[in-house]
Amino acid sequence: MTSTSRATVHGYPRQGANRQLKKATEAYWAGRTGADALLDAARELRSQRWAELRDAGVDDIPSNDFSLYDHVLDTAWLLGAIPARHAAVAQGLDRYFAMARGTADVPPLEMTKWFDTNYHYLVPELGPDTTFTLDPTKPLTEFAEALEQGILTRPVVLGPVSFLLLAKDPTGSAQPLDLLDRIVPLYADLLGQLRAAGAEWVQLDEPALVTDQPEAVLERVAEVYAVLAAERVRPKILVASYFDRLGDALPVLAAAPVEGLAIDFTGPAAANLDDLAALGGIQGKRLVAGVVTGRNIWAADLAAALGALERLQELAGTVDVAPSCSLLHVPLDVTLERDLDPEVVSWLSFARQKLAEIVTLRDGLVEGRPAVEEALRRNADRLASRAASPIVRVAAVRDREEAGVRRNRPYEARRQAQQDRLGLPDLPTTTIGSFPQTADLRKARAELRAGRLSDEAYQEAMRAEIRSVITDQEELGLDVLVHGEPERNDMVQYFAEQLDGFLATRHGWVQSYGSRYVRPPIIAGDVSRPAPMTVQWSTYAQSLTPRPVKGMLTGPVTMLAWSFVRDDQPRGETARQVALALRDEVADLEEAGIAVIQVDEPALRETLPLRTADRAAYLDWAVTAFQLATTGVRDDTQIHTHMCYAEFGDVLRAIIDMDADVISLEAARSQMAIVADLAAATYPNEVGPGVWDIHSPRIPTTNEIVGYLRTATADFPANRLWVNPDCGLKTRGYPEVRATLANLVAATTRVRAEA
Ligand code: GLN
Ligand code: ZN
Repeated sequence: MTSTSRATVHGYPRQGANRQLKKATEAYWAGRTGADALLDAARELRSQRWAELRDAGVDDIPSNDFSLYDHVLDTAWLLGAIPARHAAVAQGLDRYFAMARGTADVPPLEMTKWFDTNYHYLVPELGPDTTFTLDPTKPLTEFAEALEQGILTRPVVLGPVSFLLLAKDPTGSAQPLDLLDRIVPLYADLLGQLRAAGAEWVQLDEPALVTDQPEAVLERVAEVYAVLAAERVRPKILVASYFDRLGDALPVLAAAPVEGLAIDFTGPAAANLDDLAALGGIQGKRLVAGVVTGRNIWAADLAAALGALERLQELAGTVDVAPSCSLLHVPLDVTLERDLDPEVVSWLSFARQKLAEIVTLRDGLVEGRPAVEEALRRNADRLASRAASPIVRVAAVRDREEAGVRRNRPYEARRQAQQDRLGLPDLPTTTIGSFPQTADLRKARAELRAGRLSDEAYQEAMRAEIRSVITDQEELGLDVLVHGEPERNDMVQYFAEQLDGFLATRHGWVQSYGSRYVRPPIIAGDVSRPAPMTVQWSTYAQSLTPRPVKGMLTGPVTMLAWSFVRDDQPRGETARQVALALRDEVADLEEAGIAVIQVDEPALRETLPLRTADRAAYLDWAVTAFQLATTGVRDDTQIHTHMCYAEFGDVLRAIIDMDADVISLEAARSQMAIVADLAAATYPNEVGPGVWDIHSPRIPTTNEIVGYLRTATADFPANRLWVNPDCGLKTRGYPEVRATLANLVAATTRVRAEA
C-alpha cells in the first residue's frame, strides 16, 4: 500500500477561458499585432493555466503541453526537423507558422488526425538527408517560467518512437525508424538540460504504441529506452501512452529501465488493467493511472474508478491519478453552460470538472474511502439521475420496431428501375452537395441568431440562394443537381440542432487544429426526429427544375464521430437510433418526390478503431447503421453516399456492403488510382471518382479532366461511372466553381462522344 498518490494531468486546454490564444494568434497572423504581443499573451496564459491546476489541487503539473499551434510541430521544431522550403522563407515565429500554415509561396506541412481523436497534428517531413539539431528553448523556457512561479513541472515531450512513426518521408526512401539513431542522442541531450534546469521528471509520450506494431518496432522501443535510461544525468522518465490498450507493447515498457509509466484504463484501454495484472504489475515503478476519460464529457463513475485504483495499487510502486490523456480533447468548463438544464450539467464533466474528479480520487486513495464519502455519494446521485432521466431513455425510441436493413431487390434490378425513372446519360455529372458558403449566407445566419433578421426573411434569403444555385447548375448543364446546402452551418451541427437526444453547448470549444476550435454536439439521450429537417429545402429546389435534385443528409457514423457520444450504451446502439431518425427523413424526402438521396459518411474511415482486431465489429455496426438509414426506399429511389478520401483499402469491403447505388470519392489527387482499385475489387455499383481537388484553388482544365475520365473509363465501365468534384464546394468561391464545373461538363461531353 502507498499513501503517496498524487493527482496529475497530461495536458490542459490551450486557448484559455476567453479564447485568448486564438485571438492573439489570429491578430498576429493578420498583422494587427507584433510577435511580442503574441508571446506575451501566450506567457500570461501559461501562467494562468499553471495557477489554475495548482489551485485545483493537482500535485504534479505538466509543462510544454502548451503550444502556439500543435505539439507535434513543436517536436519537429525541437529536433530541428525543418523542411528547406520553410527554412528558406522566414525566421523565428514566422518560420514556425510557415510550417503550420504555409505562406503565399510555400505549402505547409500536411495535416492529419491525431489517432482517433478530432484533433489534427502537422505531419513532420523527414528523409534520409534530414539533419537534426536540438533547439530546447521551448521546454526549457516553459519549465523555467513555471519554476519562477513556484511550480516544479514535469515537461511533456512527444517521445522519439512516436515522433518518427507519425512523421512521413515525402521521398518515400526512408523507413521511419531508420532515423532513431540520429534523434535519440538529441533526446538524451534534452534530458540532461532539463535535469540541469531542475526537472525531476520528464514525460515522454508514446501513443503510437497503442496501435499494432511489428516486433521489430517493439525491439527498437526497448533499445531506445535502455539508451535514454542509461544517461547519467537525467530526470526520471515517465513513458506515457493513451487512447487504447498497449497489448504487446506493455511487457516491453514494463521491462524498460524507466521509472514510470502512464497508462490509459478507460474505454477500449480498460483491458490494460487485466493485462497489467497478468504481467504481475510494474512493482517498483510509478504508475500514472488514467482512470477518468480525457476525451469524453461525462462525469466519471468515481466509485468504479476508485475500485480500479485500489486494484492498481497492488500492481505498481506508486499509483498517481490522472485523466486518460491530455484534457485538450474536452472543453474547459461545463459551469459556463447556462443554457443547459442544470440537471444535465450535473452529468457532465469538462476539463475543470475532471480536475476535481482526479483530486477526489487521489484523496480517496490516500485517505481511504470514508474521507471522500460525501463526494462519492454526490457522484452516485448524479449518475443515478442521469440513468433515470426521461431525456436519456425514451420509451418510444426504444420500442421502435427493428427495420429491415436490405433493399428490396439487388442493385442490378434497382439500377433498371432508377434508369427508367431518371433517364440519365452515361457519365452523369453532379456535385457533392454544398455550393460556396458566401459571406452573405454567414451574415444572414448571424443576423438571425442575433434576432435582427426574422425567420421569414432568413428563409427567403436561403430560398434566393437555392434559386441562384439551381439556375447556375442548369446553365452549366449538370445532370443531377443539388440545392447547395446554404442553410447549413455545419454538416453535423445542422442535424444535431434538430434531433432530439442531441445537446448543443455555447462555450464547449475544443481544438481541431491550430487556432481552429469546434463545438461538438453532445449525444445525451435516445435520438429521434421530431420533424422533417431538410425536406422543405430539397422540395423547394426540386420545384424549380425538371432535373433531379439530390436530397442531402449526414450519415449516422459521421453524426457520432463529430459529437461527444453517450457512454452508457454501445456506440452501435446510438448509431442505430440516429440511423432510424435519418430513415424517417429519407422516407419523407422520397414521399415528397425526391428521387436521389445522398447520405454522407466522410467519417467512416477515420472512426476505425486503432487496433485492427476491433475493426470488424466497428464496421459491422457502421454498415448496419448506414443500411438502416437508407434501405427503407423504393427500388427507383437512388441512394448515394460520399466519402472524402482515396486510401480506403481498410474499408473497401464495408463500402461494398453499404450497397449505396452510387458512391463519390476523392480521386483527383491520386490521378484516379482509386478507380483501378475498385475495378480490382469488382466493386458492383456505381462510382463517382472526384475529378477536381477542391482543397486546391487551381481550376483544372477541360483537357485535364478529359484525361482523368479516360483513365477512369479505361478501368471501369462508363455506364457505372459518375463525374463530380472530390468533395463539397462550400470553401471555394463562385468564379472557380463556375469555371471548373463548366470544364467538367465540357470534358464529360467530349468523353461521352468518344464512347
Ligand atoms: N455534402 C457535404 C458537402 O458537400 C459533404 C461534405 C464532406 O464530405 N465533408 O459539403
Ligand atoms: Zn467530402
